Amino acid sequence: MTSQIVSARWLVTGVSADGQPRVLADAGVLHADGRVLEIADRADLARRHPQVTAVHHARHMLLPGFVNAHHHVGLTPLALGSPDLPLELWFASRLSARDVDPYLDTLYGAFDMIASGITCVQHLYPRFSGGLEQMHAGSRRVLDAYRAVGMRASFAYSLREQNRFVYGDDAAFCASLPADAGTALRRHLARSTTTLAEQLALHGRLMKDTRGQDLLRVQLAPANLHWMSDDGLQAVAERARADGVPMHMHLLETPFQREYARRRTGTGAVAHLERLGLLGPDLTLGHAVWLDDADIDRLAHSGTCVCHNCSSNLRLRSGTAPVQALARAGITLGLGLDEAGINDDRDMLQEMRLALRLHGRPGFDAARAPTVGEVLRMATEGGAATTPFKRQIGRLAPGMFFDAVAIDLQAATRPFQDDAIAPVDALLLRAKKEHVDTVYIGGDPVYAGGRFRHVDRDAVLDELAETLSRPLTPAEAERRWLAAATMPHVRAFYDDYPQPD
Ligand SMILES: [Zn+2]
Repeated sequence: MTSQIVSARWLVTGVSADGQPRVLADAGVLHADGRVLEIADRADLARRHPQVTAVHHARHMLLPGFVNAHHHVGLTPLALGSPDLPLELWFASRLSARDVDPYLDTLYGAFDMIASGITCVQHLYPRFSGGLEQMHAGSRRVLDAYRAVGMRASFAYSLREQNRFVYGDDAAFCASLPADAGTALRRHLARSTTTLAEQLALHGRLMKDTRGQDLLRVQLAPANLHWMSDDGLQAVAERARADGVPMHMHLLETPFQREYARRRTGTGAVAHLERLGLLGPDLTLGHAVWLDDADIDRLAHSGTCVCHNCSSNLRLRSGTAPVQALARAGITLGLGLDEAGINDDRDMLQEMRLALRLHGRPGFDAARAPTVGEVLRMATEGGAATTPFKRQIGRLAPGMFFDAVAIDLQAATRPFQDDAIAPVDALLLRAKKEHVDTVYIGGDPVYAGGRFRHVDRDAVLDELAETLSRPLTPAEAERRWLAAATMPHVRAFYDDYPQPD
């Protein structure tokens, strides 16, 4: 058993339920085999374990590693040629994106995330065409990439059964298009027509592939209400219960999704999921922007979690989620960068700061704004609770995985920071990605001093640049044409939806 003591000037072990960060000065973590054994005063640990090697971060704050609770791809849609648009139009514009090898793509995303202190990601994979074998091979490439870089990940293939282009029937939408676009879209959709049973078979295979692994686990992700039938949702929930895995589902991301739910269910999306038996602590709703008070009550009473995707909601003009109301109702909140974050670089420190600022409302009452501790909790223990690593990451405590990030607080606050501001506040309000010094995942310092321990970042970036410098393939060129050809018809499809105020 290889053990080590990692200590720091400040050690944050977690955030209490009322949002108070727990900070120890000059303390350390004794860890072995990927897990925390003990947390104590640094000098005390050194005295009692003289044989154990020690690393001290003298200018740093050591915090539980951040959890990106909602992620899809590596190279961002913007980088691959798909501009930011309102979500329903963006779905169509996503056709324009170039094809990227899933292994290199996943490494690229992991580089961004780890370098901003993220140690665990909830990866909801949206792609792959072809049948079960191709989906399985592609998923394994994603998992191989996380294994190679040493990042903890919860993987789920995004389950879809229907309505894959607009909030209506695929065949009917294709038939409504001009003949050439209709034929091309029909052909495109036919490339990925696996049944829900096959998609659940993929989940079963991935469960087997990752059995007994500490770094990689899988869960289930019914992609969104419009993409699933009621029978399908119930089948997925049953499977989740049988396998003992949580579910993550996009819901009520835009006002158009709220209207779709109203038309389909008569009751609204959250009440409908309640009736189908899906709500509960093992379900996380991604986005959940367009909730009403009754929905929030349902989520609170059932213990359902919400993942707040702050940047994404802004970039795709989805709206502003009722984060303060959710927090006041006691709902477990995670934080997700979704595709890219506000600067297209998946910076979790910036995402926390954005959430902190966006959800503060005018007025003197402290309850009208989130606190630093509450937002840090979302990015650590809250996000962890939405994954199969629940209660094993998100805090630093004996028995939990040693996933942590050391951030150089002295460099972040140079030349001066007055002691009147708590160190954890100074860190969350001032530190940037370049101040992330060392990232430990399962005790492994996978990133230190700007370098990845197991993978050569520059070589991967060079390979991506090389492969993407080729001309568009005929398939990519056709998809780009198809995105442009269908766009006015996608827009027109929503003509009879009420436009937001
Ligand atoms: Zn998403």
